[in-house]
Amino acid sequence: MPQRDPIVIVGGGLAGARAAEGARDAGYDGPLVVVSGEAALPYIRPPLSKDFLAGDADRDSIDVHPAAWYEEHRVDVLLGRRAVRLDPSAHALELDDGATLRYRRALLATGASPRRFAGPGGDLAGVHVLRTVEDSAALREALRSGGRRVVVIGAGWIGLEVAAAARGYDNAVTVLGLETVPLNAAIGDDAGSVFAALHREHGVDLRMSTSVAGIRGEAGRVSGVEVEGGDVVPADVVVVGIGAIPETGLAEAAGLDVDRGVLTDAAFRTSADDVYAVGDVANVFHPVLRQPIRVEHWANAENAGKAAGRSLAGEDVEYDEIPYFYTDQYDLGMEYSGYGVLAAGVAPLLRGDRDAREFIAFWLRDDRVVAGMNVNVWDVNDAVQRLIRTRAIVDPARLADPAVPLEQLAGAAG
Ligand SMILES: Cc1cc2nc3c(=O)[nH]c(=O)nc-3n(C[C@H](O)[C@H](O)[C@H](O)COP(=O)(O)OP(=O)(O)OC[C@H]3O[C@@H](n4cnc5c(N)ncnc54)[C@H](O)[C@@H]3O)c2cc1C
Repeated sequence: MPQRDPIVIVGGGLAGARAAEGARDAGYDGPLVVVSGEAALPYIRPPLSKDFLAGDADRDSIDVHPAAWYEEHRVDVLLGRRAVRLDPSAHALELDDGATLRYRRALLATGASPRRFAGPGGDLAGVHVLRTVEDSAALREALRSGGRRVVVIGAGWIGLEVAAAARGYDNAVTVLGLETVPLNAAIGDDAGSVFAALHREHGVDLRMSTSVAGIRGEAGRVSGVEVEGGDVVPADVVVVGIGAIPETGLAEAAGLDVDRGVLTDAAFRTSADDVYAVGDVANVFHPVLRQPIRVEHWANAENAGKAAGRSLAGEDVEYDEIPYFYTDQYDLGMEYSGYGVLAAGVAPLLRGDRDAREFIAFWLRDDRVVAGMNVNVWDVNDAVQRLIRTRAIVDPARLADPAVPLEQLAGAAG
Protein backbone atom coordinates (compact mmCIF):
# COMPACT_ATOMS: atom_id res chain seq x y z
CA MET A 1 0.00 0.00 0.00
CA PRO A 2 1.54 3.35 -1.00
CA GLN A 3 2.47 5.26 2.15
CA ARG A 4 1.81 8.60 0.38
CA ASP A 5 -1.91 8.06 0.43
CA PRO A 6 -3.59 10.13 3.13
CA ILE A 7 -5.33 9.15 6.28
CA VAL A 8 -8.95 9.94 5.43
CA ILE A 9 -11.49 10.77 8.10
CA VAL A 10 -15.10 10.47 6.97
CA GLY A 11 -17.25 12.87 8.99
CA GLY A 12 -16.44 16.36 10.17
CA GLY A 13 -18.14 16.23 13.57
CA LEU A 14 -16.42 16.39 16.93
CA ALA A 15 -15.03 12.85 16.72
CA GLY A 16 -13.59 13.45 13.26
CA ALA A 17 -11.99 16.76 14.27
CA ARG A 18 -10.49 15.28 17.44
CA ALA A 19 -9.20 12.29 15.49
CA ALA A 20 -7.30 14.63 13.17
CA GLU A 21 -5.85 16.29 16.25
CA GLY A 22 -4.99 12.94 17.85
CA ALA A 23 -3.17 11.77 14.72
CA ARG A 24 -1.08 14.94 14.60
CA ASP A 25 -0.41 14.78 18.38
CA ALA A 26 0.88 11.24 17.88
CA GLY A 27 3.37 12.52 15.32
CA TYR A 28 1.64 11.52 12.10
CA ASP A 29 3.12 13.90 9.58
CA GLY A 30 1.61 12.69 6.31
CA PRO A 31 -1.41 13.93 4.39
CA LEU A 32 -4.66 14.08 6.33
CA VAL A 33 -8.09 14.65 4.80
CA VAL A 34 -11.46 15.12 6.48
CA VAL A 35 -14.52 14.58 4.28
CA SER A 36 -17.41 16.47 5.82
CA GLY A 37 -21.00 16.33 4.67
CA GLU A 38 -21.68 19.67 6.34
CA ALA A 39 -21.08 23.20 5.06
CA ALA A 40 -19.40 24.33 8.29
CA LEU A 41 -16.12 23.33 9.91
CA PRO A 42 -16.53 20.88 12.82
CA TYR A 43 -18.54 22.24 15.74
CA ILE A 44 -19.89 20.84 18.99
CA ARG A 45 -23.54 19.92 19.25
CA PRO A 46 -24.47 20.06 22.97
CA PRO A 47 -25.03 23.87 22.91
CA LEU A 48 -27.51 23.40 20.03
CA SER A 49 -30.17 22.36 22.53
CA LYS A 50 -28.89 24.61 25.35
CA ASP A 51 -27.15 28.02 25.26
CA PHE A 52 -26.98 28.37 21.46
CA LEU A 53 -30.70 27.58 21.22
CA ALA A 54 -31.37 29.94 24.12
CA GLY A 55 -29.47 32.71 22.32
CA ASP A 56 -26.71 32.82 24.94
CA ALA A 57 -23.82 31.39 22.89
CA ASP A 58 -22.18 32.89 19.81
CA ARG A 59 -21.70 30.85 16.67
CA ASP A 60 -17.89 31.06 17.08
CA SER A 61 -18.00 29.58 20.55
CA ILE A 62 -19.20 26.21 19.28
CA ASP A 63 -16.39 25.61 16.77
CA VAL A 64 -14.06 22.74 17.69
CA HIS A 65 -11.06 24.62 16.25
CA PRO A 66 -10.70 28.01 14.63
CA ALA A 67 -10.31 27.81 10.82
CA ALA A 68 -6.58 28.57 11.06
CA TRP A 69 -5.96 25.41 13.08
CA TYR A 70 -6.71 23.17 10.08
CA GLU A 71 -4.26 25.07 7.94
CA GLU A 72 -1.57 25.11 10.61
CA HIS A 73 -1.93 21.35 11.10
CA ARG A 74 -2.22 20.62 7.37
CA VAL A 75 -5.65 19.07 7.71
CA ASP A 76 -7.49 19.29 4.41
CA VAL A 77 -11.21 19.57 5.16
CA LEU A 78 -13.49 18.90 2.20
CA LEU A 79 -16.72 20.65 3.20
CA GLY A 80 -20.10 19.79 1.73
CA ARG A 81 -18.82 16.50 0.31
CA ARG A 82 -20.14 13.12 1.24
CA ALA A 83 -18.47 9.76 0.94
CA VAL A 84 -20.86 7.45 -0.90
CA ARG A 85 -18.88 4.21 -1.17
CA LEU A 86 -16.09 2.55 0.72
CA ASP A 87 -13.99 -0.11 -0.97
CA PRO A 88 -11.70 -1.61 1.68
CA SER A 89 -9.94 -4.00 -0.71
CA ALA A 90 -8.89 -1.11 -2.99
CA HIS A 91 -8.31 1.27 -0.04
CA ALA A 92 -10.60 3.71 -1.84
CA LEU A 93 -13.45 5.98 -0.98
CA GLU A 94 -15.85 7.37 -3.55
CA LEU A 95 -17.28 10.84 -3.00
CA ASP A 96 -20.64 12.23 -4.11
CA ASP A 97 -19.00 14.34 -6.84
CA GLY A 98 -17.57 11.21 -8.47
CA ALA A 99 -14.03 11.72 -7.14
CA THR A 100 -12.17 8.74 -5.68
CA LEU A 101 -9.87 9.17 -2.72
CA ARG A 102 -7.32 6.48 -2.03
CA TYR A 103 -6.47 6.13 1.62
CA ARG A 104 -3.71 4.69 3.70
CA ARG A 105 -6.10 4.35 6.62
CA ALA A 106 -9.72 5.48 6.85
CA LEU A 107 -11.76 6.42 9.89
CA LEU A 108 -15.55 6.33 9.86
CA ALA A 109 -16.74 9.17 12.09
CA THR A 110 -20.10 9.59 10.42
CA GLY A 111 -22.08 10.06 13.64
CA ALA A 112 -25.82 9.70 13.71
CA SER A 113 -28.90 11.29 12.17
CA PRO A 114 -32.06 12.29 13.97
CA ARG A 115 -34.87 9.78 13.83
CA ARG A 116 -37.77 11.44 12.04
CA PHE A 117 -41.43 11.00 12.84
CA ALA A 118 -42.55 8.26 10.49
CA GLY A 119 -46.31 8.77 10.86
CA PRO A 120 -48.52 11.24 9.01
CA GLY A 121 -47.51 14.90 9.10
CA GLY A 122 -43.81 14.44 9.79
CA ASP A 123 -42.87 16.68 6.87
CA LEU A 124 -45.22 19.62 7.60
CA ALA A 125 -43.76 23.12 7.93
CA GLY A 126 -43.17 23.89 11.59
CA VAL A 127 -41.99 20.34 12.42
CA HIS A 128 -38.36 20.42 13.58
CA VAL A 129 -35.58 17.96 14.31
CA LEU A 130 -32.35 18.97 16.00
CA ARG A 131 -28.93 17.80 14.92
CA THR A 132 -27.15 20.57 13.02
CA VAL A 133 -26.40 24.20 13.70
CA GLU A 134 -28.88 25.08 10.95
CA ASP A 135 -31.58 23.02 12.72
CA SER A 136 -30.87 24.85 15.97
CA ALA A 137 -30.91 28.31 14.34
CA ALA A 138 -34.23 27.51 12.63
CA LEU A 139 -35.75 26.28 15.88
CA ARG A 140 -34.48 29.32 17.77
CA GLU A 141 -36.15 31.52 15.18
CA ALA A 142 -39.42 29.65 15.73
CA LEU A 143 -39.22 29.94 19.53
CA ARG A 144 -37.69 33.33 20.20
CA SER A 145 -40.83 35.47 19.91
CA GLY A 146 -42.46 33.49 22.73
CA GLY A 147 -46.20 33.00 23.15
CA ARG A 148 -46.28 29.98 20.85
CA ARG A 149 -47.66 26.52 21.50
CA VAL A 150 -44.73 24.15 21.34
CA VAL A 151 -45.16 20.39 21.41
CA VAL A 152 -42.08 18.26 21.93
CA ILE A 153 -42.38 14.62 20.88
CA GLY A 154 -39.97 12.60 23.01
CA ALA A 155 -38.95 13.00 26.64
CA GLY A 156 -35.26 12.16 26.27
CA TRP A 157 -32.31 14.48 26.79
CA ILE A 158 -32.83 16.57 23.67
CA GLY A 159 -36.61 16.80 24.13
CA LEU A 160 -36.25 17.99 27.70
CA GLU A 161 -33.48 20.45 26.92
CA VAL A 162 -35.55 21.92 24.10
CA ALA A 163 -38.53 22.16 26.46
CA ALA A 164 -36.40 24.15 28.93
CA ALA A 165 -35.15 26.49 26.18
CA ALA A 166 -38.68 26.95 24.83
CA ARG A 167 -39.96 27.83 28.32
CA GLY A 168 -37.06 30.27 28.61
CA TYR A 169 -38.57 32.18 25.68
CA ASP A 170 -41.96 32.00 27.42
CA ASN A 171 -43.70 29.58 25.12
CA ALA A 172 -46.43 27.16 26.24
CA VAL A 173 -44.75 23.75 26.17
CA THR A 174 -46.17 20.24 26.09
CA VAL A 175 -43.85 17.23 26.15
CA LEU A 176 -45.21 13.88 24.98
CA GLY A 177 -43.27 10.83 26.14
CA LEU A 178 -43.86 7.16 25.45
CA GLU A 179 -42.40 5.84 28.71
CA THR A 180 -43.93 6.19 32.16
CA VAL A 181 -41.07 8.40 33.37
CA PRO A 182 -38.82 10.63 31.25
CA LEU A 183 -35.26 9.39 30.69
CA ASN A 184 -35.97 6.02 32.25
CA ALA A 185 -33.97 4.17 29.60
CA ALA A 186 -30.92 6.30 30.39
CA ILE A 187 -31.06 6.74 34.17
CA GLY A 188 -34.02 4.74 35.46
CA ASP A 189 -37.37 5.79 36.95
CA ASP A 190 -36.03 7.14 40.21
CA ALA A 191 -33.59 9.65 38.75
CA GLY A 192 -35.86 10.34 35.77
CA SER A 193 -38.65 11.46 38.08
CA VAL A 194 -36.40 14.29 39.33
CA PHE A 195 -36.47 15.69 35.80
CA ALA A 196 -40.24 15.15 35.52
CA ALA A 197 -40.80 17.25 38.65
CA LEU A 198 -38.35 19.91 37.44
CA HIS A 199 -40.21 20.41 34.18
CA ARG A 200 -43.65 20.40 35.76
CA GLU A 201 -42.48 23.06 38.23
CA HIS A 202 -41.39 25.16 35.28
CA GLY A 203 -44.83 24.97 33.74
CA VAL A 204 -44.30 22.22 31.18
CA ASP A 205 -47.32 20.04 30.50
CA LEU A 206 -45.49 16.71 30.65
CA ARG A 207 -47.66 13.85 29.41
CA MET A 208 -46.04 10.48 29.79
CA SER A 209 -47.28 7.05 28.61
CA THR A 210 -48.46 8.93 25.54
CA SER A 211 -48.07 7.65 22.02
CA VAL A 212 -48.33 9.99 19.03
CA ALA A 213 -50.65 8.89 16.23
CA GLY A 214 -49.92 11.71 13.80
CA ILE A 215 -49.09 15.34 13.27
CA ARG A 216 -51.96 17.44 11.98
CA GLY A 217 -51.65 20.40 9.65
CA GLU A 218 -53.55 23.13 7.88
CA ALA A 219 -52.39 24.54 4.54
CA GLY A 220 -49.11 22.65 4.82
CA ARG A 221 -48.28 23.99 8.33
CA VAL A 222 -48.46 22.10 11.56
CA SER A 223 -51.55 22.74 13.66
CA GLY A 224 -51.46 20.01 16.29
CA VAL A 225 -50.31 16.60 17.43
CA GLU A 226 -52.80 13.78 17.62
CA VAL A 227 -52.17 11.26 20.38
CA GLU A 228 -53.42 7.66 20.52
CA GLY A 229 -57.05 7.82 21.60
CA GLY A 230 -57.83 10.76 19.35
CA ASP A 231 -56.98 13.85 21.46
CA VAL A 232 -55.24 16.62 19.53
CA VAL A 233 -52.75 18.89 21.29
CA PRO A 234 -52.75 22.21 19.40
CA ALA A 235 -49.29 23.27 18.20
CA ASP A 236 -47.59 26.09 16.32
CA VAL A 237 -44.20 24.40 16.58
CA VAL A 238 -43.42 20.68 16.91
CA VAL A 239 -40.01 19.32 17.82
CA VAL A 240 -39.31 15.65 17.18
CA GLY A 241 -36.73 14.37 19.67
CA ILE A 242 -37.07 10.62 19.39
CA GLY A 243 -33.45 9.56 19.18
CA ALA A 244 -30.77 9.23 16.56
CA ILE A 245 -29.81 6.48 14.15
CA PRO A 246 -26.11 5.68 13.66
CA GLU A 247 -24.87 6.42 10.12
CA THR A 248 -23.66 2.89 9.35
CA GLY A 249 -24.63 2.84 5.66
CA LEU A 250 -21.10 3.07 4.21
CA ALA A 251 -19.85 0.34 6.51
CA GLU A 252 -22.77 -1.98 5.86
CA ALA A 253 -22.52 -1.62 2.08
CA ALA A 254 -18.78 -2.36 2.32
CA GLY A 255 -19.48 -5.58 4.25
CA LEU A 256 -18.02 -4.50 7.59
CA ASP A 257 -19.31 -6.09 10.79
CA VAL A 258 -22.13 -3.89 12.07
CA ASP A 259 -24.32 -4.51 15.09
CA ARG A 260 -26.19 -1.41 16.32
CA GLY A 261 -23.08 0.50 15.21
CA VAL A 262 -19.85 -0.28 13.38
CA LEU A 263 -18.11 -2.91 15.50
CA THR A 264 -14.52 -2.21 16.48
CA ASP A 265 -11.94 -3.48 18.92
CA ALA A 266 -10.64 -1.26 21.73
CA ALA A 267 -8.23 0.37 19.26
CA PHE A 268 -11.16 1.38 16.97
CA ARG A 269 -10.21 -1.13 14.25
CA THR A 270 -13.20 -2.46 12.31
CA SER A 271 -13.43 -5.87 10.66
CA ALA A 272 -11.82 -4.40 7.47
CA ASP A 273 -8.08 -3.81 7.22
CA ASP A 274 -7.09 -0.17 7.72
CA VAL A 275 -10.66 0.97 8.39
CA TYR A 276 -11.42 2.38 11.84
CA ALA A 277 -14.59 3.82 13.40
CA VAL A 278 -15.30 6.15 16.32
CA GLY A 279 -17.96 8.37 17.89
CA ASP A 280 -21.73 7.96 17.69
CA VAL A 281 -21.44 5.55 14.76
CA ALA A 282 -19.11 3.09 16.46
CA ASN A 283 -19.83 0.16 18.76
CA VAL A 284 -16.44 -0.17 20.44
CA PHE A 285 -15.24 -3.11 22.52
CA HIS A 286 -14.79 -1.93 26.11
CA PRO A 287 -12.06 -3.81 27.96
CA VAL A 288 -13.67 -3.37 31.40
CA LEU A 289 -17.19 -4.35 30.33
CA ARG A 290 -15.82 -7.08 28.03
CA GLN A 291 -18.46 -6.16 25.46
CA PRO A 292 -18.92 -3.47 22.81
CA ILE A 293 -20.69 -0.26 23.76
CA ARG A 294 -21.96 2.51 21.55
CA VAL A 295 -21.85 5.83 23.36
CA GLU A 296 -23.79 8.74 21.87
CA HIS A 297 -22.24 11.47 23.95
CA TRP A 298 -20.00 14.47 23.61
CA ALA A 299 -17.21 13.22 25.92
CA ASN A 300 -16.91 10.04 23.89
CA ALA A 301 -16.58 11.95 20.60
CA GLU A 302 -14.03 14.16 22.33
CA ASN A 303 -11.84 11.55 24.06
CA ALA A 304 -12.36 8.50 21.88
CA GLY A 305 -11.97 10.74 18.83
CA LYS A 306 -8.48 11.74 19.95
CA ALA A 307 -7.61 8.16 20.89
CA ALA A 308 -8.78 6.91 17.48
CA GLY A 309 -6.52 9.50 15.85
CA ARG A 310 -3.57 8.18 17.83
CA SER A 311 -4.50 4.65 16.82
CA LEU A 312 -4.70 5.69 13.14
CA ALA A 313 -1.21 7.15 13.50
CA GLY A 314 0.07 3.77 14.65
CA GLU A 315 0.12 4.18 18.43
CA ASP A 316 -0.95 1.26 20.63
CA VAL A 317 -4.35 2.23 22.00
CA GLU A 318 -6.74 0.45 24.34
CA TYR A 319 -9.65 2.80 24.98
CA ASP A 320 -11.20 2.16 28.40
CA GLU A 321 -12.70 5.52 29.44
CA ILE A 322 -15.79 5.45 31.61
CA PRO A 323 -18.76 6.83 29.65
CA TYR A 324 -19.68 10.36 30.75
CA PHE A 325 -22.39 12.83 29.82
CA TYR A 326 -24.02 15.95 31.15
CA THR A 327 -27.12 18.07 30.81
CA ASP A 328 -28.20 21.60 31.74
CA GLN A 329 -31.89 22.34 32.13
CA TYR A 330 -33.19 25.53 33.83
CA ASP A 331 -31.06 25.83 36.97
CA LEU A 332 -30.22 22.13 37.09
CA GLY A 333 -26.82 20.91 36.00
CA MET A 334 -26.01 17.22 36.01
CA GLU A 335 -23.08 14.95 35.20
CA TYR A 336 -23.36 11.18 34.84
CA SER A 337 -20.45 8.77 34.74
CA GLY A 338 -20.68 5.04 34.51
CA TYR A 339 -21.92 1.95 32.83
CA GLY A 340 -25.63 2.31 32.14
CA VAL A 341 -25.79 -1.32 31.08
CA LEU A 342 -24.71 -2.42 34.59
CA ALA A 343 -26.89 0.17 36.33
CA ALA A 344 -30.08 -0.83 34.48
CA GLY A 345 -32.78 -2.02 36.85
CA VAL A 346 -30.83 -1.05 39.98
CA ALA A 347 -32.44 1.46 42.39
CA PRO A 348 -29.93 4.26 43.07
CA LEU A 349 -28.64 5.15 46.48
CA LEU A 350 -28.85 8.89 47.18
CA ARG A 351 -26.38 11.11 48.95
CA GLY A 352 -27.63 14.64 49.61
CA ASP A 353 -30.95 16.40 49.28
CA ARG A 354 -33.19 15.06 46.53
CA ASP A 355 -35.97 17.61 47.13
CA ALA A 356 -33.53 20.52 46.87
CA ARG A 357 -32.05 18.83 43.77
CA GLU A 358 -28.57 18.76 45.23
CA PHE A 359 -27.46 15.20 45.44
CA ILE A 360 -25.38 12.40 44.01
CA ALA A 361 -27.08 9.18 42.94
CA PHE A 362 -25.00 6.02 42.96
CA TRP A 363 -25.85 2.75 41.28
CA LEU A 364 -24.22 -0.24 42.97
CA ARG A 365 -23.71 -3.83 41.97
CA ASP A 366 -22.23 -6.23 44.49
CA ASP A 367 -21.44 -3.21 46.71
CA ARG A 368 -19.37 -1.63 43.97
CA VAL A 369 -20.28 1.64 42.27
CA VAL A 370 -21.04 1.12 38.57
CA ALA A 371 -22.50 4.58 37.86
CA GLY A 372 -22.91 7.93 39.56
CA MET A 373 -24.87 11.07 38.77
CA ASN A 374 -24.19 14.38 40.46
CA VAL A 375 -27.02 16.91 40.34
CA ASN A 376 -26.10 20.51 41.25
CA VAL A 377 -23.13 19.14 43.22
CA TRP A 378 -19.85 20.08 41.61
CA ASP A 379 -16.22 18.99 41.46
CA VAL A 380 -17.05 15.42 42.41
CA ASN A 381 -16.94 13.77 39.02
CA ASP A 382 -13.30 12.73 39.36
CA ALA A 383 -14.05 11.09 42.70
CA VAL A 384 -17.12 9.36 41.27
CA GLN A 385 -15.07 8.05 38.36
CA ARG A 386 -12.37 6.86 40.76
CA LEU A 387 -14.95 4.86 42.73
CA ILE A 388 -16.09 3.20 39.53
CA ARG A 389 -12.60 2.60 38.19
CA THR A 390 -11.11 1.16 41.39
CA ARG A 391 -14.10 -1.15 41.90
CA ALA A 392 -13.79 -0.40 45.60
CA ILE A 393 -16.23 -2.24 47.85
CA VAL A 394 -18.22 0.49 49.57
CA ASP A 395 -20.34 0.61 52.66
CA PRO A 396 -23.69 1.93 51.38
CA ALA A 397 -24.37 3.81 54.64
CA ARG A 398 -21.07 5.68 54.38
CA LEU A 399 -21.59 6.31 50.67
CA ALA A 400 -24.97 7.88 51.42
CA ASP A 401 -23.51 10.10 54.14
CA PRO A 402 -22.37 13.49 52.72
CA ALA A 403 -20.09 13.91 55.73
CA VAL A 404 -17.86 11.05 54.53
CA PRO A 405 -15.51 12.32 51.79
CA LEU A 406 -15.86 10.30 48.58
CA GLU A 407 -12.07 10.07 48.38
CA GLN A 408 -12.05 7.98 51.57
CA LEU A 409 -14.44 5.47 50.04
CA ALA A 410 -12.31 4.80 46.96
CA GLY A 411 -9.57 3.34 49.15
CA ALA A 412 -10.53 -0.31 49.51
CA ALA A 413 -10.12 -1.83 46.06
CA GLY A 414 -12.03 -5.08 45.73
C1 LIG B 1 -28.80 18.86 19.94
C2 LIG B 1 -27.81 17.93 20.57
C3 LIG B 1 -27.48 18.09 21.90
C4 LIG B 1 -26.57 17.25 22.52
N1 LIG B 1 -26.27 17.43 23.84
C5 LIG B 1 -25.39 16.62 24.44
C6 LIG B 1 -25.07 16.80 25.82
O1 LIG B 1 -25.59 17.68 26.51
N2 LIG B 1 -24.16 15.98 26.40
C7 LIG B 1 -23.56 14.98 25.68
O2 LIG B 1 -22.75 14.27 26.25
N3 LIG B 1 -23.87 14.77 24.36
C8 LIG B 1 -24.76 15.56 23.73
N4 LIG B 1 -25.07 15.37 22.41
C9 LIG B 1 -24.45 14.23 21.68
C10 LIG B 1 -23.13 14.63 21.03
O3 LIG B 1 -23.23 15.87 20.40
C11 LIG B 1 -22.72 13.54 20.05
O4 LIG B 1 -22.43 12.39 20.79
C12 LIG B 1 -21.53 13.94 19.18
O5 LIG B 1 -21.87 15.03 18.36
C13 LIG B 1 -21.06 12.79 18.33
O6 LIG B 1 -20.01 13.22 17.52
P1 LIG B 1 -19.62 12.44 16.18
O7 LIG B 1 -18.51 13.24 15.59
O8 LIG B 1 -19.48 11.01 16.47
O9 LIG B 1 -20.91 12.54 15.24
P2 LIG B 1 -21.65 13.80 14.61
O10 LIG B 1 -21.58 14.96 15.52
O11 LIG B 1 -23.02 13.32 14.21
O12 LIG B 1 -20.82 14.15 13.29
C14 LIG B 1 -20.81 13.28 12.19
C15 LIG B 1 -20.54 14.10 10.95
O13 LIG B 1 -20.35 13.22 9.86
C16 LIG B 1 -21.02 13.73 8.72
N5 LIG B 1 -21.28 12.62 7.80
C17 LIG B 1 -22.14 11.58 7.99
N6 LIG B 1 -22.07 10.74 6.92
C18 LIG B 1 -21.14 11.25 6.09
C19 LIG B 1 -20.63 10.84 4.82
N7 LIG B 1 -21.05 9.73 4.23
N8 LIG B 1 -19.68 11.63 4.24
C20 LIG B 1 -19.25 12.75 4.84
N9 LIG B 1 -19.70 13.18 6.02
C21 LIG B 1 -20.63 12.44 6.64
C22 LIG B 1 -22.25 14.37 9.30
O14 LIG B 1 -22.79 15.31 8.40
C23 LIG B 1 -21.68 15.02 10.55
O15 LIG B 1 -21.17 16.28 10.27
C24 LIG B 1 -25.98 16.20 21.77
C25 LIG B 1 -26.34 16.01 20.43
C26 LIG B 1 -27.23 16.88 19.82
C27 LIG B 1 -27.62 16.67 18.38
